[in-house]
Amino acid sequence: MVNLEAVVADQNPVGWRFDNTYSRLPEALFAPAKPAALVGSPRVVILNHRLADELGLDLGVMSSEAAATLFAGQDLPSGSQPIAQAYAGHQYGGFTMLGDGRAILLGEHRTPSGQLVDIQFKGSGRTQFSRRGDGRAALGPMLREYIISEAMYALGIPTTRSLAVVTTGEPVYRETRLQGAILTRVAASHIRVGTFEYLAAKQDESNLRVLADYTINRHYPELAVSPHRYLEFFRAVMDHQAALIARWQLVGFIHGVMNTDNMAISGESIDYGPCAFMNAYRPDTVFSSIDHAGRYAYGNQPAIAQWNLARFAETLLPLLAPQQAEAVAIATEALGQYPTLFEQYWLTGMRAKLGLQTAEPGDLELVQSLLTWMQKSQSDFTNTFRDLSEAKSPPGNRYQDPDFQAWYADWQRRLSHETQPIALTYAAMRSVNPAIIPRNHRVEEALAAAENHNDLSLLHRLLAALATPYETSPDFAKYQEPPSGDDSYRTFCGT
Ligand code: AMP
Ligand code: MG
Repeated sequence: MVNLEAVVADQNPVGWRFDNTYSRLPEALFAPAKPAALVGSPRVVILNHRLADELGLDLGVMSSEAAATLFAGQDLPSGSQPIAQAYAGHQYGGFTMLGDGRAILLGEHRTPSGQLVDIQFKGSGRTQFSRRGDGRAALGPMLREYIISEAMYALGIPTTRSLAVVTTGEPVYRETRLQGAILTRVAASHIRVGTFEYLAAKQDESNLRVLADYTINRHYPELAVSPHRYLEFFRAVMDHQAALIARWQLVGFIHGVMNTDNMAISGESIDYGPCAFMNAYRPDTVFSSIDHAGRYAYGNQPAIAQWNLARFAETLLPLLAPQQAEAVAIATEALGQYPTLFEQYWLTGMRAKLGLQTAEPGDLELVQSLLTWMQKSQSDFTNTFRDLSEAKSPPGNRYQDPDFQAWYADWQRRLSHETQPIALTYAAMRSVNPAIIPRNHRVEEALAAAENHNDLSLLHRLLAALATPYETSPDFAKYQEPPSGDDSYRTFCGT
């Protein structure tokens, strides 16, 4: 007798369970794509075994060579069906037809808990949507995405994840010659505002409805039976984005390229290019080298999310009501609730950062007065909140400022209205105010060692520190320090 399960396990020892629902959607939404055949020899740089476990995948059964071949797209997992997704996007405000120019979706893998997740290669060669690009990616930016996405995950912020980075053994040419690399990204899905914009631009109303229904079933299944499901869908996406952007603001995360093609309908943070965490508190902080106007500055992120949601709402108009005027009125009314929604998430988060379990009318002013002082004194965003969480008057000259002292007294008075024991309040604060964030100078140091000297030790240390961001230890103390001197750091996208 043949043991079928054993045969299957033999052929698929890693444990892939592909169910490629996206590639069963109308062909307008994607194009078949194959990872480029490599002449170089791929090598594993990093594998995320912890994530693999969560996905029900066993990477340990493969030799390092086999893993490199797999994650370089040279030996596709059984059951995968590679495609490039079509999408459009407003980039810095201007509309463009795009699509996966350097990414390939292998399909959706079903996790042990039954969730479908996209498995995507980034940097695996040209597709039908590559335009003038080479379809490739360099090692530094792929490792950067790995670091930041795993840091976001550890902070508890919805995000795509990173399963592997391999070098391709082939160079990519940017300003200089760099090592080519491929990132394997795991996401709830890669459906973006731009995916809807793509069909809307083609005035393809019937496929738009198919896409909306698919997305509702995949991400918001509880809405499928709602009589106003497209409006409810819009509201749910808006709610998830408001919650997400509030989380970004609360940890000082700056995405850098909030184009509509980089806004996921699932509510996950996606596409870590020129992103970074703010050091000193300055709402106009921009890191992206090409964002001259500061469109995507820290302080603009909430408003840009609303702008992107307006573009999303426009795509849904034909589904909201038979008459356009009526649809516009419905969408406008819904979108108008975003500022309040965002502020609720943000203020709830800020209250938690200050140890306030209850709500009082003066809380917003209390928060704003702290932020005003932080901006004036150029205080480090992360460390200020962490210092406040330490159950004692924060030490150091900075905090001797009479303005801070006055604020601190107000805050202590406000804290005295809370009923829970003060020790619990400070412990709760330490569970929401991270000690360790991926600071640019530490990220760059780890990337430089990996890129220039094949030295992965700094990368692994940094990842270990970032895995427990709410804990402090003498070993990881240096990761709490802001950079010394100038903080006019720039990150580059599209590399
Ligand atoms: P991103 O900046 O990664 O969000 O990419 C924006 C758009 O440009 C997407 O459609 C990408 O697929 C495309 N793109 C970025 N880099 C490349 C590249 N090297 N080759 C082809 N397409 C690219
Ligand atoms: Mg993108």
